[in-house]
Amino acid sequence: MSSLQIARVALDLPLRSLFDYRAPDEQPLSPTDVGYRVRVPFGTQRKIGILVELPATSEVSLAQLRPIDCVLRDLPPLPTDWFRLTEFCAAYYHAPLGQVMLSTLPAGLRATTAVQPRHSRKAPLVGSAQQAPPLTAEQQASLAAITAAAGFHAYLLHGVTGSGKTEVYLRLIERALAGGRQSLLLVPEINLTPQLEGRVAARFPSAGMVSLHSELGEAARRRNWQAALTGEARIVLGTRLAIFTPLPDLGLIVVDEEHDASFKQQDGVRYSARDLAVFRARQMAIPIVLGSATPSLESWANATTSASRGRYQLLSLHERAVEGARLPEVRRIDTRVDKTQDGLSGAMLRAIEQRLARAEQSLLFLNRRGYAPVLACGACGWTSDCHRCAANLVLHLSDRRLRCHHCGFEARVPQACPTCGNQDLSPFGRGTQRLEAVLAERFPQARVLRVDRDSAGSRKQWEALVERIQCGEADILVGTQMLAKGHDFPKLTLVGAIAPDAALFAADWRAPERLFAQLMQVAGRAGRAERPGEMLIQTQFPEHPLYAALARHDFPAFAATQLDERRQAGFPPYAYQAMLRAEAPQMADALRFLTIARACLPAEVGQAVCFYDPVPMRLSRRASLERGQLLVESPSRRALQRFLAQWVPQLEAIKSSSRLRWHLEVDPLEF
Ligand code: ADP
Ligand code: ZN
Ligand code: ZN
Repeated sequence: MSSLQIARVALDLPLRSLFDYRAPDEQPLSPTDVGYRVRVPFGTQRKIGILVELPATSEVSLAQLRPIDCVLRDLPPLPTDWFRLTEFCAAYYHAPLGQVMLSTLPAGLRATTAVQPRHSRKAPLVGSAQQAPPLTAEQQASLAAITAAAGFHAYLLHGVTGSGKTEVYLRLIERALAGGRQSLLLVPEINLTPQLEGRVAARFPSAGMVSLHSELGEAARRRNWQAALTGEARIVLGTRLAIFTPLPDLGLIVVDEEHDASFKQQDGVRYSARDLAVFRARQMAIPIVLGSATPSLESWANATTSASRGRYQLLSLHERAVEGARLPEVRRIDTRVDKTQDGLSGAMLRAIEQRLARAEQSLLFLNRRGYAPVLACGACGWTSDCHRCAANLVLHLSDRRLRCHHCGFEARVPQACPTCGNQDLSPFGRGTQRLEAVLAERFPQARVLRVDRDSAGSRKQWEALVERIQCGEADILVGTQMLAKGHDFPKLTLVGAIAPDAALFAADWRAPERLFAQLMQVAGRAGRAERPGEMLIQTQFPEHPLYAALARHDFPAFAATQLDERRQAGFPPYAYQAMLRAEAPQMADALRFLTIARACLPAEVGQAVCFYDPVPMRLSRRASLERGQLLVESPSRRALQRFLAQWVPQLEAIKSSSRLRWHLEVDPLEF
């Protein structure tokens, strides 16, 4: 038996995911084989796994171990630091290791049907690199600070919109390239940032930049991932999943728009790519730059509060980089005085008129797509509800459909009320389509363009719209937060926030943070070039401190107030949370599961962790499933983690109906 060699393999399975095999009969394994993919028998099937270890002993009796079919050496093995990252992710988010590891690979590399690796990568663009502008004094200071230190350092680059953060990233990438290191640049949603992709590729035409995001086809994703692993690609630009890209020479991580919620994975393994990025940088002893005009309060606290002084170093860019470009002037319109008609105040209408007369563009921001949030019958009180969700069906008039924005259900708009037959159904409230219609009627001479997920759902549609806007083929833009992100529209001088007030008093205590960020970002679209910009906010609460801080472009003041409130309320970042969610056809079953879960306290929890009551989620039913949640909280991250490590195995042992599903989310963002 002494020659028998044990091979530990990670497989994509729930609960337990590490399994022992023995080396293939004809082929002994060496420690350098760790990190290769292997094909193994599993039950009557075959599966692809990753060889994680050659342990000396196994809990399974050796005679029972089945041999590995084969080791796949078509690609270099996954590097050690990639193992540390996926192990940390599995431990911190309490997810099965094999599931974490395998789910980060391109699908083709997980399939047992052997696909021949293809080497038809696009030839690298050969051209002369685009010239870099001389840096502003503030950019220079930031760059100097970042390059002064060696090893791990986390920097929070807080720069107002248009202050040239991207230029700082590019200089850092340039240095990494010169030092023979790879750079990883994470962005929130890649189809919103083709400009950035173009800019990076143009600056470094021979760095073999690849992008990794969900809209890539399988073949392209695999090709790009492979180029990263082999080191051929020196720059990787990607969305959250790209944090797991194996990069043998990684020397720099940048997380742009670090506050953006899309860095959080919302199903499967619920990780935060931003937080994993910080872990990865620390473990690799390399610098990481988190950039934003409106940092998350977690990051802001890490950079500014005395409790965590020194965790992140704050670097600030206060001025716009382009000579003469100023931040837009923010004016509040008191809609209690200047009453809106069809959603638009007199001041807003006049401002739009002025822009039309000067051949400049206006952007109206309304974060609600569709025509109206609900269709209703005035005679009997019927409303268009989704029968699968605790939500309304939204009226989409452009194709005469009612749509659920939560489960995707859709139906034709009824001719008459389904309950009483009344033919006069009325839309209530206002979405982007309705605003578009109002504007087209008010300004018949103007070209109105709507930009939301319905009109710019795919990357192609989005690029086409952006091009039309940039060519000046639109006078008035109506859009959701899609329009808020990093785009230069040189003729845009007016930004109007149509109905932002709801978020001021929302039950979700993170709503003000998101509102401030959105308004600041969308304001940032105006006045980018030599023309000064203006932002008008229609509000019934013009004195609200959030708007007052916005008018002064004073993120630090806003953040300080918010952090104060959070400290007093004991909310993150002053507490650490995990959310257990359960869904089932009946709410009672979901809540019963959570109640049992609450009762299985590990022995030594003590007062380090506290539970809230199991409650229905705010959207209490989605796609015909009732949903409940149980919040767990601790003032100490470590205590919470210790508790979860003991709690999760107990949850797995709870007997419940097969129709019940549950999951745990660490550091939840949405409630
Ligand atoms: P941010 O990422 O902070 O929004 P960008 O890096 O996109 O800012 O820069 C905004 C604009 O300023 C871009 O048009 C960019 O080309 C320009 N810019 C950046 N840095 C400089 C500089 N040092 N000198 C002149 N223009 C600059
Ligand atoms: Zn009716
Ligand atoms: Zn629905």
